[in-house]
Amino acid sequence: MEVVKPVKRNVLLNPGPATTTDTVKYAQVVPDICPRENEFVEIMDEVRRELVKVVHADPEKYTAVLFTGSGTIIQDVLVNSLVPEGKKICVVDNGAYSSRMAEIAGYYHIPCVNLEFPTTGLPDLKVLQETLEKDKDIAVVATTHHETGTGVLNPVREIGKLAHDNNCIFIADTISTYGLLPINMEEENIDFCMSSAQKGLCAMTGVSWVVGKVDEIVKSKDYPTRSYYCNLFMQYDFFDRVGEMHFTPPVQVIYALQQAIREYREEGEQARYERITGCWEAIHKGLEGIGLGYVIDKEIQGHLVVTIKAPEDDRFDFATLHDYCYERGFTIYPGKMFGLATFRLCNLGWITARDIEDFFVVAKEAFKEMGYSIPIK
Ligand SMILES: *Cc1c(COP(=O)(O)O)cnc(C)c1O
Repeated sequence: MEVVKPVKRNVLLNPGPATTTDTVKYAQVVPDICPRENEFVEIMDEVRRELVKVVHADPEKYTAVLFTGSGTIIQDVLVNSLVPEGKKICVVDNGAYSSRMAEIAGYYHIPCVNLEFPTTGLPDLKVLQETLEKDKDIAVVATTHHETGTGVLNPVREIGKLAHDNNCIFIADTISTYGLLPINMEEENIDFCMSSAQKGLCAMTGVSWVVGKVDEIVKSKDYPTRSYYCNLFMQYDFFDRVGEMHFTPPVQVIYALQQAIREYREEGEQARYERITGCWEAIHKGLEGIGLGYVIDKEIQGHLVVTIKAPEDDRFDFATLHDYCYERGFTIYPGKMFGLATFRLCNLGWITARDIEDFFVVAKEAFKEMGYSIPIK
């Protein structure tokens, strides 16, 4: 892959899009091509096979189905396509991204049992068990693997087991963990997982996918069709028969994704996990040095997002901190926790522990500008 001219590098510490390599950026610069050409169909085919492999799924039983859109489109697809007539979905909800799946169910008027738990901890699985044993109309259980809003890593294996013990299928929103934390779908009891190109694979926004069980997708043919563009079976069936998306794919974004997958393979699953864990450790070290605390217990953090308690006096101003860092090539992100003044540092992208150390040099200057002495008390 040729990089004609290096592009200014920004370190994105927001929860996606993530920092990408120049080789992924330049992979989009290709001769114009109609996506119905064989050459493109073959790329799509390679990408789909690779996406199944990333989560160690058996290609005989699982398949990847892509849609044009950001990650939410896959939440939409799965929620609207996999609930049979007269049945319910149960959402294990301890954060914003699980809440979104419950909200989607609401928009489609799909009966939803939303089990809400505090956003600062793990869900109470006894409550889930009792709910599933009592309500036999629940056919689908859904939750978020890593709650990007807070940094909590949910026990998907246990949730999936409870779902299966009660004859439900299990959907895990792995959008922020796919390609970062090693995931084995069958070991984790996941029937459907998902991601989006701008997250852990460090490609471009515009394409998202589900990796899911073929026999369940085929069964869903007879479920109520609640959406046209976002129907899972319709898109699967088109891929199966024709080898491509039903409607125009984001052509250049797919080229970037193909390159990003190759770079993922070159780095290796374990090496990537270690690199991002190194970033996460550097964030905690940096916070200690600067004198800031975090919200979520370290033992239940997913190594991808740290929610930081903002100082509680009026010298602190998120916009000032953000702008100071932004001008120096680092992007930070506001918090997503109700009633708590927080901000977030996310390490999903093509970044290293060294980038995090550089960030904290800048962050310290920003806090001094706001009138703090370091460490902040
Ligand atoms: C990013 C993300 C999404 C999707 O967000 P989009 O803005 O639509 O890409 C969904 N779930 C999780 C856990 C995420 O991190």
